[in-house]
Amino acid sequence: MTDLPFASALPDIVFPAAVSGRGMASLSFLFQLEQSQWWSQDRLRQGQETQLRQLLAHADAQVPFWRGKLRALIDAADSAAFWTRWHAQPLLTRRQIQDAGDKLISAAMPEGHGDLAEIFTSGSTGKPIRAVRSEMWEVLWSAFTVREHLWHRRDLGAKLAAIRTSTKGKALWPDGERLEHWGFSTGDIFKTGPCVSLNITTPIERQLEWLEREAPDYLLTHPTMLDRLLRAGGDFRPKRLKQVLTISEILAPGLRALCRERWGVTVIDTYSTRECGYLAFQCPEHEHYHLQAESALVEILDESGAPTRPGAIGRVVVTPLHNLAMPLLRYDIGDYAETGNGPCPCGRGLPVIKSILGRRQNLLRLPDGSERWPLLSSGDIGGLLALAPIRHYQVAQVATDRIELRLQTARALADIEVTQVLGWARKKFGAEFHIDLAFPPKLERSAAGKFEDFVSLL
Ligand SMILES: [Zn+2]
Repeated sequence: MTDLPFASALPDIVFPAAVSGRGMASLSFLFQLEQSQWWSQDRLRQGQETQLRQLLAHADAQVPFWRGKLRALIDAADSAAFWTRWHAQPLLTRRQIQDAGDKLISAAMPEGHGDLAEIFTSGSTGKPIRAVRSEMWEVLWSAFTVREHLWHRRDLGAKLAAIRTSTKGKALWPDGERLEHWGFSTGDIFKTGPCVSLNITTPIERQLEWLEREAPDYLLTHPTMLDRLLRAGGDFRPKRLKQVLTISEILAPGLRALCRERWGVTVIDTYSTRECGYLAFQCPEHEHYHLQAESALVEILDESGAPTRPGAIGRVVVTPLHNLAMPLLRYDIGDYAETGNGPCPCGRGLPVIKSILGRRQNLLRLPDGSERWPLLSSGDIGGLLALAPIRHYQVAQVATDRIELRLQTARALADIEVTQVLGWARKKFGAEFHIDLAFPPKLERSAAGKFEDFVSLL
């Protein structure tokens, strides 16, 4: 890595730069992460075990919810016994977290972890869960934020634009919001370019106008927003754009190709959750993801609860390794992912996942009882949008044999368009479904700005 624009906190020490205190703490983690990414999976697993044992001892001593539940793990004499018992440890559900309330919060924290802060996550089920984390956890989070920028060789002095917040009244068109740096994680260490942001609920034409006016080098947004921008933009192409960063939702198959075709740039996707932090980053050389094994133990489990075979789909179970303020052990976050086939050719030992499929609530259930992932590829969506002047769409399974296709259209549809749209849905979902068209006045995003193009109400 050459020519990184380090920021010095002392005006008379400029080479090498004297980075600020918080930046230094983050850099010390980053220095280690630069090396551990090349470790073998066995060595990473050993590192995880040593950190897990610290977390378990703390949870047993200080967290009422876990007291007495972890003795067998803590007493495991060797690694083999530890992992056997780990795999027998029950999964933690979202409901349990909600019901536990303060019982999951550490009664006392060790020295040096700093103040605690809490956040609330909305989730798709409506009822929020509270997550509490320490300043130490946030320093680690910052180190991983910077790792992701370094992996993808971003020009940190360039301009970043974000279309992500849906907070009412925030970052409104036409001005949006303006920061002099890319956020504290990166700004504590480097002299970065500016960051501009716009509310995700801004009408699409105005988003495009804003993008043209701001001319950013990087755009950070949600996959469904990117899809809409690409399709609504016509010949428009953001003139200085180098890369699009996607977060927070499932990246639809084909969206990368569409972005390359329309805007001539690559998409770099990140997998994270509000309550667990970063789970996986896209490989610098491939389109699959590397689990961030130094931050969290991520297990992909089959229906029997055993680790899936390589290349199979399983549920995502997460244990953040450093959040002593609110230890979550084997938390079933509700997502499904497909594991990779063996190590990555890039040489990193961090385990590979091929794709993230999203939540079980978003599985299509067939009338015969079987289930499948109804992922709408970019090609599927393109096919649908070519049939009628559709501005926005959502597919909802409303009964075992009924699918509702919700559309917002520029005008009332002609009979022929209705017929063609119904035909598209039958072809996509199968003749066993009855298809209804619905024209709701609004298709809502969640409080976190997320949008799901397939939802199941079963
Ligand atoms: Zn790789």
